[in-house]
Amino acid sequence: MRFSKSFIPTLKETPSEAVVKSHILLLRAGMIRMLSAGIYSFLPTGYRVIRKISEIIREEMDAIGGQEFHLPALNPKEIWEETGRVEAFGDILFHIKNREYVLAPTHEEIMTFHARNVLKSYKDFPQIWYQIQTKFRNEPRPRSGVIRGRQFLMKDAYSFDISWEGLDKSYELHDQAYRKIFDRCGLKYFVVGASSGAMGGTGSEEFMVKSDAGEDTVAYCENCGYAANVEVAESKTHPRGREDKNEELREIHTPNIRSIDELCDFLNIKESQCAKSRIYVHLGKPVLILMLGNEEVNESKLEKYLGGNVRPAHPEELVEFTGAEAGSIGPVGFSERSSLKAGKGRIIADLKLKDANNLYSGANKTDYHFGGIDLTRDAKNIEYTDLRIVESGEECSKCDSKLQVFNAIELGHIFKLGTKYSESMGATFLDEKGEEHPIIMGSYGIGVERIMACFIEQHNDENGIVWDAALAPFHVHLMGLNLKKEEVAKACEEIYKNLTDKNYEVLYDDRIDAQAGVKFNDADLLGMPLQIIVGDKKLKSNQVEVKIRKTGERFDVSLEDLSKKLKDLFIDHLITPQN
Ligand code: ATP
Ligand code: MG
Repeated sequence: MRFSKSFIPTLKETPSEAVVKSHILLLRAGMIRMLSAGIYSFLPTGYRVIRKISEIIREEMDAIGGQEFHLPALNPKEIWEETGRVEAFGDILFHIKNREYVLAPTHEEIMTFHARNVLKSYKDFPQIWYQIQTKFRNEPRPRSGVIRGRQFLMKDAYSFDISWEGLDKSYELHDQAYRKIFDRCGLKYFVVGASSGAMGGTGSEEFMVKSDAGEDTVAYCENCGYAANVEVAESKTHPRGREDKNEELREIHTPNIRSIDELCDFLNIKESQCAKSRIYVHLGKPVLILMLGNEEVNESKLEKYLGGNVRPAHPEELVEFTGAEAGSIGPVGFSERSSLKAGKGRIIADLKLKDANNLYSGANKTDYHFGGIDLTRDAKNIEYTDLRIVESGEECSKCDSKLQVFNAIELGHIFKLGTKYSESMGATFLDEKGEEHPIIMGSYGIGVERIMACFIEQHNDENGIVWDAALAPFHVHLMGLNLKKEEVAKACEEIYKNLTDKNYEVLYDDRIDAQAGVKFNDADLLGMPLQIIVGDKKLKSNQVEVKIRKTGERFDVSLEDLSKKLKDLFIDHLITPQN
């Protein structure tokens, strides 16, 4: 491809709408442009990357027996009503006005529709159906460029089995295929697993990459691979324990003291001597949560423990439930007091507080605290569970190494659906005895643009993108400096033809009027793995310069040795150029 005839609108400046690195670089390299919020056009060089990613996905999906479909994005709404997902998706689902259509945000319903009509006998199974297709979701806050779009490409696959063991097998095949896909794309990823343990063994795994642009927060152990969303992540708990000398319970006047910090200053005590109280409402009843020091409650863990939604109590409810305002609430006397009004209030304490004594906490009387609280003596029936939000540096609960907590982006998701869709849509098969059963399904998604953006998040420097050969729009960026000189132009044309004939994809910067500096900057910004620089001085001794984008290493190669040298350089890069 000749630069002079290509549409590669590179930008010098960082566009103001972009914050995330991949978004900035995709715009600056002229690979994408925004049409409106969350809606992007792929320009020719950007689309080359999308095609390469799609091809890798195709090869690996075909390798596990996947069959490629292409389903319509425009769907009759009534199919979505069969599964109740018009309501479940709510505002995320795009509706077509005046007609009963929706734009598909995913394709479980449509695949199940086809399965229902054709997979009737146990002999028809197993099946793996997939497609690489545009999805539409009215994401409330599209941001980070193509990482969260309102229209995006997804590889979605669906498995159809007649037994739970069959589903396990299909799921395992996808797990392996996903690892190959992300490895081949050159991504450093990790896997967050979740198993609900429900009948039939539903489970799911998310493939994630570490990135500041991510909206998920995960805890990760590099040593053993433990990874979990912070909503559920656990670390090793070290309870504060009991002090030898057990103090007496005493009431202390603490005027206008509201926070743990203020309490520590006022009484000259440490955070680890305090138990912070928070009141939540669960099924209309108050629940007092106790955390050590200034630690915050992980509401997801609390909801999981209690089963169902919780909400923090309103200020007026605090007075009603405890008799005190926020800042003076505590465990001593709470159950008795709250039982008068709203039913006996439970006290749930974090494991770090297990059976602790000599604690300070609110006295359920505004402007008063208790000191010398012994949780085993002064507050009966406390339930203990892990309620903390895991932090970086804590010990992994599996292997004792240090956990890291960081933001991450979900690249892909594999999920054992079971019979949810086949039951609601009546997709059944007949077994050997002629008995009817719902088909057992799995669904498996990958965000194609997210692979591209995440690769850039992981592979860039101050000058631009650093592609590997597998995803690079072109393998080689050939630059002719001073092309007005005939010998330079001639050498470039020869190299261009020669390499193209050998199946290299070459972007040839043949712009006659562009300065060398502009060409170098564009080459680094666009980030092809190899640059070949042809200038008149080196050409006098029959040499050109080769630069490896990733390392910045440069060396001279004679024209005769060029293709052999390139072959050596690309051998590590999954390319098999023709001889
Ligand atoms: P997220 O939690 O990030 O919204 P999701 O759980 O909604 O993702 P799935 O429904 O499992 O995602 O879709 C499968 C894959 O599609 C995701 O793993 C992700 O890579 C991609 N994807 C989902 N939503 C978007 C989006 N708005 N823009 C780009 N890619 C997306
Ligand atoms: Mg989503």
